[in-house]
Amino acid sequence: MARIVMKFGGTSVADLDRIRNVAARVKREVAAGHEVAVVVSAMAGVTNQLVGWCQALSPLHDAREYDTVVATGEQVTSGLVAIALQEMGVEARSWQGWQIRLLTDGAHGKARIDRIEGAELIRRMGTGQVPVIAGFQGIGPDNRVTTLGRGGSDTSAVALAAALLADRCDIYTDVDGVYTTDPRIVAKARKLDKIAYEAMLELASVGAKVLQTRSVELAMKARVRVQVLSSFQDLPGTLVVDEDEIVEHAIVSGIAYSRDEAKVTVRRVPDRPGIAAAIFGPLAGAGVNVDMIVQNVSADGTTDMTFTLGRADLPRARKVLDDNHATIGFVEILDDPDVAKISVVGVGMRSHAGVANTMFRTLAEKGINIQVISTSEIKVSVLIGAEYTELAVRALHTAYGLDAG
Ligand code: ASP
Ligand code: MG
Repeated sequence: MARIVMKFGGTSVADLDRIRNVAARVKREVAAGHEVAVVVSAMAGVTNQLVGWCQALSPLHDAREYDTVVATGEQVTSGLVAIALQEMGVEARSWQGWQIRLLTDGAHGKARIDRIEGAELIRRMGTGQVPVIAGFQGIGPDNRVTTLGRGGSDTSAVALAAALLADRCDIYTDVDGVYTTDPRIVAKARKLDKIAYEAMLELASVGAKVLQTRSVELAMKARVRVQVLSSFQDLPGTLVVDEDEIVEHAIVSGIAYSRDEAKVTVRRVPDRPGIAAAIFGPLAGAGVNVDMIVQNVSADGTTDMTFTLGRADLPRARKVLDDNHATIGFVEILDDPDVAKISVVGVGMRSHAGVANTMFRTLAEKGINIQVISTSEIKVSVLIGAEYTELAVRALHTAYGLDAG
Protein backbone atom coordinates (compact mmCIF):
# COMPACT_ATOMS: atom_id res chain seq x y z
CA MET A 1 0.00 0.00 0.00
CA ALA A 2 1.28 3.41 -0.92
CA ARG A 3 0.22 7.00 -0.39
CA ILE A 4 -0.11 8.79 -3.71
CA VAL A 5 -0.90 12.33 -4.79
CA MET A 6 -2.59 12.34 -8.21
CA LYS A 7 -2.61 15.71 -9.98
CA PHE A 8 -4.75 16.32 -13.07
CA GLY A 9 -4.07 19.24 -15.44
CA GLY A 10 -6.60 21.32 -17.32
CA THR A 11 -6.92 19.10 -20.40
CA SER A 12 -7.51 16.06 -18.17
CA VAL A 13 -10.57 17.71 -16.62
CA ALA A 14 -11.68 19.67 -19.70
CA ASP A 15 -15.25 18.30 -19.77
CA LEU A 16 -17.53 15.98 -17.82
CA ASP A 17 -16.47 12.84 -19.71
CA ARG A 18 -12.86 13.54 -18.89
CA ILE A 19 -13.78 14.23 -15.28
CA ARG A 20 -15.44 10.80 -15.17
CA ASN A 21 -12.27 9.32 -16.67
CA VAL A 22 -10.23 11.00 -13.92
CA ALA A 23 -12.58 9.66 -11.26
CA ALA A 24 -12.26 6.15 -12.71
CA ARG A 25 -8.46 6.38 -12.52
CA VAL A 26 -8.62 7.53 -8.92
CA LYS A 27 -11.07 4.75 -8.08
CA ARG A 28 -8.64 2.19 -9.52
CA GLU A 29 -5.83 3.36 -7.22
CA VAL A 30 -8.16 3.36 -4.23
CA ALA A 31 -9.35 -0.15 -5.11
CA ALA A 32 -5.71 -1.27 -5.26
CA GLY A 33 -5.48 -0.33 -1.59
CA HIS A 34 -3.62 2.97 -1.90
CA GLU A 35 -4.30 6.14 0.05
CA VAL A 36 -4.97 8.83 -2.53
CA ALA A 37 -5.15 12.61 -2.50
CA VAL A 38 -6.20 14.34 -5.72
CA VAL A 39 -5.09 17.81 -6.85
CA VAL A 40 -6.88 19.47 -9.76
CA SER A 41 -6.34 22.35 -12.17
CA ALA A 42 -9.11 24.44 -13.69
CA MET A 43 -10.83 23.06 -16.78
CA ALA A 44 -8.80 23.79 -19.92
CA GLY A 45 -9.11 27.44 -21.01
CA VAL A 46 -10.94 28.58 -17.88
CA THR A 47 -8.01 30.32 -16.19
CA ASN A 48 -7.18 32.19 -19.41
CA GLN A 49 -10.75 33.43 -19.59
CA LEU A 50 -10.76 34.54 -15.95
CA VAL A 51 -7.44 36.36 -16.38
CA GLY A 52 -8.82 37.98 -19.55
CA TRP A 53 -11.85 39.30 -17.72
CA CYS A 54 -9.69 40.96 -15.06
CA GLN A 55 -7.49 42.55 -17.72
CA ALA A 56 -10.45 43.75 -19.76
CA LEU A 57 -11.91 45.60 -16.78
CA SER A 58 -8.61 47.09 -15.69
CA PRO A 59 -5.10 46.49 -17.02
CA LEU A 60 -3.67 47.38 -13.62
CA HIS A 61 -6.25 45.49 -11.56
CA ASP A 62 -5.86 44.85 -7.84
CA ALA A 63 -3.90 41.60 -7.40
CA ARG A 64 -6.05 40.47 -4.45
CA GLU A 65 -9.20 40.66 -6.57
CA TYR A 66 -7.39 38.92 -9.45
CA ASP A 67 -6.73 36.02 -7.05
CA THR A 68 -10.37 36.01 -5.93
CA VAL A 69 -11.40 35.62 -9.57
CA VAL A 70 -8.79 33.20 -10.98
CA ALA A 71 -8.86 30.82 -7.99
CA THR A 72 -12.48 29.94 -8.82
CA GLY A 73 -11.49 27.71 -11.77
CA GLU A 74 -9.97 25.13 -9.44
CA GLN A 75 -12.86 25.41 -6.97
CA VAL A 76 -15.24 24.25 -9.71
CA THR A 77 -13.16 21.22 -10.71
CA SER A 78 -12.52 20.14 -7.13
CA GLY A 79 -16.27 19.97 -6.51
CA LEU A 80 -17.02 18.26 -9.81
CA VAL A 81 -14.34 15.59 -9.35
CA ALA A 82 -15.59 14.94 -5.80
CA ILE A 83 -19.14 14.50 -7.13
CA ALA A 84 -17.93 12.16 -9.89
CA LEU A 85 -16.06 10.06 -7.33
CA GLN A 86 -19.05 9.88 -5.00
CA GLU A 87 -21.19 8.82 -7.96
CA MET A 88 -18.77 5.90 -8.45
CA GLY A 89 -19.03 4.90 -4.83
CA VAL A 90 -15.75 6.43 -3.69
CA GLU A 91 -15.88 8.54 -0.56
CA ALA A 92 -14.53 11.97 -1.51
CA ARG A 93 -14.47 15.55 -0.26
CA SER A 94 -13.34 18.78 -1.94
CA TRP A 95 -10.83 21.12 -0.27
CA GLN A 96 -9.96 24.74 -1.05
CA GLY A 97 -6.61 26.22 0.01
CA TRP A 98 -8.13 28.05 2.98
CA GLN A 99 -9.84 24.91 4.28
CA ILE A 100 -6.70 22.78 4.37
CA ARG A 101 -4.83 25.78 5.41
CA LEU A 102 -2.28 25.87 2.67
CA LEU A 103 -0.49 28.99 3.85
CA THR A 104 1.38 31.25 1.44
CA ASP A 105 3.22 34.53 1.54
CA GLY A 106 1.36 37.70 0.56
CA ALA A 107 2.61 38.01 -3.03
CA HIS A 108 -0.81 37.90 -4.67
CA GLY A 109 -0.78 36.44 -8.17
CA LYS A 110 2.56 34.68 -7.63
CA ALA A 111 2.52 33.58 -4.01
CA ARG A 112 4.93 31.05 -2.52
CA ILE A 113 3.83 28.27 -0.21
CA ASP A 114 5.04 28.71 3.38
CA ARG A 115 3.39 25.79 5.16
CA ILE A 116 0.67 23.18 4.74
CA GLU A 117 -1.39 21.88 7.66
CA GLY A 118 -1.73 18.30 6.46
CA ALA A 119 -2.83 16.44 9.61
CA GLU A 120 -6.58 16.47 8.93
CA LEU A 121 -6.09 15.33 5.33
CA ILE A 122 -3.86 12.47 6.48
CA ARG A 123 -6.41 11.45 9.09
CA ARG A 124 -9.23 11.35 6.53
CA MET A 125 -7.13 9.46 3.99
CA GLY A 126 -6.57 6.90 6.73
CA THR A 127 -10.33 6.35 6.88
CA GLY A 128 -10.52 5.79 3.12
CA GLN A 129 -11.72 9.25 2.14
CA VAL A 130 -10.20 10.90 -0.94
CA PRO A 131 -9.47 14.61 -0.56
CA VAL A 132 -9.94 16.46 -3.86
CA ILE A 133 -7.84 19.58 -3.54
CA ALA A 134 -8.10 22.77 -5.58
CA GLY A 135 -4.60 23.37 -6.93
CA PHE A 136 -3.03 26.76 -7.66
CA GLN A 137 -4.42 28.43 -4.54
CA GLY A 138 -3.72 29.08 -0.89
CA ILE A 139 -4.39 31.63 1.79
CA GLY A 140 -2.16 34.61 2.51
CA PRO A 141 -1.20 36.40 5.74
CA ASP A 142 -4.02 38.88 4.98
CA ASN A 143 -6.47 35.96 5.26
CA ARG A 144 -7.37 36.28 1.58
CA VAL A 145 -7.14 33.79 -1.28
CA THR A 146 -3.77 33.74 -3.06
CA THR A 147 -2.68 32.01 -6.29
CA LEU A 148 0.71 30.55 -7.06
CA GLY A 149 1.42 31.84 -10.58
CA ARG A 150 0.44 30.27 -13.92
CA GLY A 151 0.92 26.53 -13.95
CA GLY A 152 0.99 26.60 -10.15
CA SER A 153 -1.11 23.53 -9.51
CA ASP A 154 1.99 21.41 -10.25
CA THR A 155 3.58 23.17 -7.31
CA SER A 156 0.48 22.61 -5.16
CA ALA A 157 0.68 18.89 -5.93
CA VAL A 158 4.38 18.53 -5.11
CA ALA A 159 4.04 20.59 -1.93
CA LEU A 160 1.10 18.47 -0.82
CA ALA A 161 2.99 15.27 -1.62
CA ALA A 162 5.77 16.50 0.67
CA ALA A 163 3.39 17.59 3.44
CA LEU A 164 1.34 14.38 3.29
CA LEU A 165 4.52 12.25 3.21
CA ALA A 166 3.35 10.67 -0.04
CA ASP A 167 5.39 7.95 -1.71
CA ARG A 168 4.87 9.51 -5.11
CA CYS A 169 3.35 12.50 -6.88
CA ASP A 170 1.78 11.55 -10.21
CA ILE A 171 1.26 14.51 -12.55
CA TYR A 172 -1.32 13.55 -15.19
CA THR A 173 -1.16 15.72 -18.28
CA ASP A 174 -1.74 15.67 -22.04
CA VAL A 175 1.71 14.31 -22.87
CA ASP A 176 2.85 10.89 -21.74
CA GLY A 177 6.13 11.97 -20.21
CA VAL A 178 9.26 14.05 -20.57
CA TYR A 179 10.91 13.79 -23.98
CA THR A 180 14.48 14.28 -25.15
CA THR A 181 13.10 17.24 -27.07
CA ASP A 182 9.82 18.58 -28.41
CA PRO A 183 8.25 15.71 -30.44
CA ARG A 184 6.44 18.26 -32.59
CA ILE A 185 9.81 19.36 -33.96
CA VAL A 186 11.76 16.12 -33.86
CA ALA A 187 9.80 13.02 -34.87
CA LYS A 188 12.57 10.86 -33.40
CA ALA A 189 12.30 12.37 -29.93
CA ARG A 190 12.31 9.70 -27.21
CA LYS A 191 10.40 9.51 -23.98
CA LEU A 192 12.72 9.32 -20.98
CA ASP A 193 12.02 6.63 -18.36
CA LYS A 194 13.79 8.65 -15.70
CA ILE A 195 15.32 12.09 -15.42
CA ALA A 196 17.30 13.64 -12.56
CA TYR A 197 15.80 16.61 -10.67
CA GLU A 198 18.68 18.86 -11.70
CA ALA A 199 18.29 18.08 -15.39
CA MET A 200 14.50 18.46 -15.23
CA LEU A 201 14.94 21.79 -13.50
CA GLU A 202 17.21 23.09 -16.26
CA LEU A 203 14.88 21.75 -18.95
CA ALA A 204 11.83 23.31 -17.29
CA SER A 205 13.56 26.66 -16.93
CA VAL A 206 14.82 26.78 -20.52
CA GLY A 207 11.52 26.13 -22.17
CA ALA A 208 10.32 22.53 -21.82
CA LYS A 209 6.84 23.35 -20.55
CA VAL A 210 5.87 20.02 -18.95
CA LEU A 211 6.18 21.07 -15.30
CA GLN A 212 6.18 24.44 -13.60
CA THR A 213 9.81 25.24 -12.73
CA ARG A 214 8.96 25.94 -9.12
CA SER A 215 7.40 22.51 -8.70
CA VAL A 216 10.64 20.85 -9.79
CA GLU A 217 12.66 23.03 -7.41
CA LEU A 218 10.40 21.97 -4.60
CA ALA A 219 10.47 18.28 -5.57
CA MET A 220 14.26 18.39 -5.58
CA LYS A 221 14.43 20.08 -2.20
CA ALA A 222 11.85 17.85 -0.51
CA ARG A 223 12.97 14.72 -2.43
CA VAL A 224 9.47 14.04 -3.77
CA ARG A 225 9.38 11.34 -6.45
CA VAL A 226 7.41 12.83 -9.34
CA GLN A 227 5.96 10.93 -12.25
CA VAL A 228 4.75 12.73 -15.40
CA LEU A 229 2.19 10.66 -17.30
CA SER A 230 -0.82 10.87 -19.58
CA SER A 231 -4.37 10.68 -18.30
CA PHE A 232 -5.48 9.42 -21.70
CA GLN A 233 -3.27 6.33 -21.95
CA ASP A 234 -2.28 3.47 -19.69
CA LEU A 235 1.46 3.80 -19.99
CA PRO A 236 4.18 4.41 -17.44
CA GLY A 237 5.42 8.00 -17.71
CA THR A 238 8.71 9.65 -16.82
CA LEU A 239 10.00 9.51 -13.25
CA VAL A 240 11.73 12.64 -11.98
CA VAL A 241 14.05 11.39 -9.26
CA ASP A 242 17.38 11.71 -7.54
CA GLU A 243 20.46 11.23 -9.73
CA ASP A 244 21.47 8.20 -7.63
CA GLU A 245 18.37 6.34 -8.78
CA ILE A 246 19.43 6.53 -12.40
CA VAL A 247 21.72 3.68 -13.29
CA GLU A 248 22.58 4.46 -16.86
CA HIS A 249 23.40 8.08 -17.45
CA ALA A 250 23.14 9.67 -20.84
CA ILE A 251 25.61 12.55 -21.03
CA VAL A 252 22.90 14.72 -22.53
CA SER A 253 19.30 14.04 -21.50
CA GLY A 254 17.49 16.68 -23.49
CA ILE A 255 17.49 19.62 -25.84
CA ALA A 256 15.19 22.54 -25.16
CA TYR A 257 14.45 25.69 -27.08
CA SER A 258 12.76 28.96 -26.37
CA ARG A 259 11.50 31.43 -28.92
CA ASP A 260 10.42 33.93 -26.30
CA GLU A 261 13.78 35.70 -26.19
CA ALA A 262 15.13 38.98 -27.52
CA LYS A 263 18.68 40.32 -27.75
CA VAL A 264 19.78 43.83 -26.85
CA THR A 265 23.17 45.40 -27.50
CA VAL A 266 24.14 48.58 -25.71
CA ARG A 267 26.76 50.05 -28.04
CA ARG A 268 29.93 51.85 -26.99
CA VAL A 269 29.55 52.42 -23.29
CA PRO A 270 32.56 53.69 -21.35
CA ASP A 271 34.57 50.68 -20.10
CA ARG A 272 34.83 51.61 -16.44
CA PRO A 273 34.03 50.06 -13.05
CA GLY A 274 30.31 50.31 -12.35
CA ILE A 275 29.10 50.25 -15.95
CA ALA A 276 27.41 46.85 -15.60
CA ALA A 277 25.67 48.05 -12.46
CA ALA A 278 24.58 51.24 -14.25
CA ILE A 279 22.93 49.14 -16.98
CA PHE A 280 21.56 46.15 -15.11
CA GLY A 281 20.60 47.89 -11.86
CA PRO A 282 17.80 49.98 -13.41
CA LEU A 283 16.65 46.99 -15.50
CA ALA A 284 16.35 44.82 -12.39
CA GLY A 285 14.60 47.68 -10.63
CA ALA A 286 12.00 47.70 -13.40
CA GLY A 287 11.46 43.96 -13.03
CA VAL A 288 13.19 43.06 -16.30
CA ASN A 289 14.74 39.61 -16.05
CA VAL A 290 18.05 39.47 -17.90
CA ASP A 291 19.40 36.07 -18.91
CA MET A 292 22.63 35.77 -20.94
CA ILE A 293 25.19 38.59 -20.81
CA VAL A 294 28.36 39.26 -22.81
CA GLN A 295 30.70 42.18 -22.54
CA ASN A 296 33.07 42.65 -25.44
CA VAL A 297 36.70 43.79 -25.28
CA SER A 298 37.38 47.48 -25.37
CA ALA A 299 39.84 48.98 -27.80
CA ASP A 300 39.17 52.68 -27.43
CA GLY A 301 37.98 52.81 -23.84
CA THR A 302 34.45 51.86 -24.83
CA THR A 303 32.79 48.46 -25.03
CA ASP A 304 29.56 46.81 -26.22
CA MET A 305 27.31 45.05 -23.73
CA THR A 306 24.96 42.40 -25.17
CA PHE A 307 22.27 40.62 -23.20
CA THR A 308 19.09 38.62 -23.66
CA LEU A 309 15.71 38.99 -22.00
CA GLY A 310 12.12 37.85 -22.41
CA ARG A 311 10.74 39.29 -25.64
CA ALA A 312 7.71 40.72 -23.84
CA ASP A 313 10.08 42.85 -21.73
CA LEU A 314 11.82 44.44 -24.73
CA PRO A 315 9.80 47.70 -24.90
CA ARG A 316 10.17 48.22 -21.15
CA ALA A 317 13.91 47.52 -21.27
CA ARG A 318 14.42 50.03 -24.11
CA LYS A 319 12.58 52.67 -22.15
CA VAL A 320 14.59 52.03 -18.98
CA LEU A 321 17.86 52.28 -20.93
CA ASP A 322 16.76 55.48 -22.68
CA ASP A 323 15.70 56.97 -19.35
CA ASN A 324 19.18 56.21 -17.99
CA HIS A 325 21.12 57.45 -20.99
CA ALA A 326 22.92 60.11 -18.99
CA THR A 327 24.35 57.70 -16.41
CA ILE A 328 25.13 54.86 -18.83
CA GLY A 329 26.49 56.98 -21.68
CA PHE A 330 25.90 54.64 -24.63
CA VAL A 331 26.09 55.66 -28.28
CA GLU A 332 23.18 53.57 -29.51
CA ILE A 333 20.99 50.59 -28.62
CA LEU A 334 20.33 47.73 -31.03
CA ASP A 335 17.71 45.10 -30.45
CA ASP A 336 16.77 41.88 -32.19
CA PRO A 337 13.56 40.03 -31.31
CA ASP A 338 14.15 37.30 -33.92
CA VAL A 339 16.36 35.06 -31.82
CA ALA A 340 15.96 31.67 -30.15
CA LYS A 341 17.80 30.08 -27.27
CA ILE A 342 18.78 26.44 -27.68
CA SER A 343 19.95 24.53 -24.62
CA VAL A 344 21.60 21.15 -24.22
CA VAL A 345 21.05 19.70 -20.73
CA GLY A 346 22.43 16.68 -18.90
CA VAL A 347 23.92 15.83 -15.51
CA GLY A 348 26.54 13.70 -17.31
CA MET A 349 28.22 16.92 -18.47
CA ARG A 350 29.77 17.22 -15.04
CA SER A 351 32.06 14.30 -15.81
CA HIS A 352 32.40 14.54 -19.59
CA ALA A 353 34.38 17.07 -21.55
CA GLY A 354 33.55 18.10 -25.09
CA VAL A 355 29.77 18.52 -24.80
CA ALA A 356 29.91 22.22 -25.65
CA ASN A 357 32.32 21.58 -28.49
CA THR A 358 29.96 19.03 -30.07
CA MET A 359 27.26 21.68 -29.97
CA PHE A 360 29.42 24.34 -31.60
CA ARG A 361 30.69 21.96 -34.28
CA THR A 362 27.19 20.69 -35.11
CA LEU A 363 25.81 24.21 -35.50
CA ALA A 364 28.83 25.24 -37.60
CA GLU A 365 28.28 22.31 -39.95
CA LYS A 366 24.74 23.57 -40.53
CA GLY A 367 26.00 27.09 -41.14
CA ILE A 368 24.22 28.43 -38.06
CA ASN A 369 25.84 31.43 -36.45
CA ILE A 370 26.07 31.53 -32.65
CA GLN A 371 25.40 35.00 -31.24
CA VAL A 372 25.73 34.46 -27.49
CA ILE A 373 26.84 31.49 -25.37
CA SER A 374 26.24 30.70 -21.72
CA THR A 375 26.99 27.62 -19.69
CA SER A 376 26.27 26.11 -16.31
CA GLU A 377 27.51 22.89 -14.76
CA ILE A 378 24.93 20.79 -16.58
CA LYS A 379 23.77 23.05 -19.44
CA VAL A 380 25.09 24.81 -22.52
CA SER A 381 22.88 27.45 -24.11
CA VAL A 382 23.37 29.35 -27.34
CA LEU A 383 21.45 32.17 -28.93
CA ILE A 384 20.82 31.82 -32.68
CA GLY A 385 18.56 33.34 -35.33
CA ALA A 386 14.96 32.24 -34.68
CA GLU A 387 14.61 30.89 -38.24
CA TYR A 388 17.17 28.17 -37.45
CA THR A 389 15.37 26.79 -34.39
CA GLU A 390 14.08 23.55 -35.93
CA LEU A 391 17.22 22.88 -37.89
CA ALA A 392 19.41 23.36 -34.81
CA VAL A 393 17.26 21.23 -32.50
CA ARG A 394 17.11 18.37 -35.02
CA ALA A 395 20.83 18.44 -35.76
CA LEU A 396 21.75 18.50 -32.07
CA HIS A 397 19.31 15.71 -31.25
CA THR A 398 21.11 13.53 -33.78
CA ALA A 399 24.59 14.70 -32.78
CA TYR A 400 24.11 13.66 -29.15
CA GLY A 401 22.77 10.24 -30.14
CA LEU A 402 19.27 10.95 -28.85
CA ASP A 403 17.32 9.90 -31.95
CA ALA A 404 15.00 6.94 -31.43
CA GLY A 405 16.22 3.88 -33.32
N1 ASP B 1 -5.19 26.83 -13.72
C1 ASP B 1 -3.92 27.47 -13.47
C2 ASP B 1 -3.28 27.92 -14.79
O1 ASP B 1 -3.85 27.71 -15.84
C3 ASP B 1 -3.00 26.61 -12.69
C4 ASP B 1 -2.59 25.33 -13.37
O2 ASP B 1 -3.28 24.83 -14.25
O3 ASP B 1 -1.56 24.80 -12.99
O4 ASP B 1 -2.24 28.51 -14.77
MG1 MG C 1 0.29 22.86 -16.29
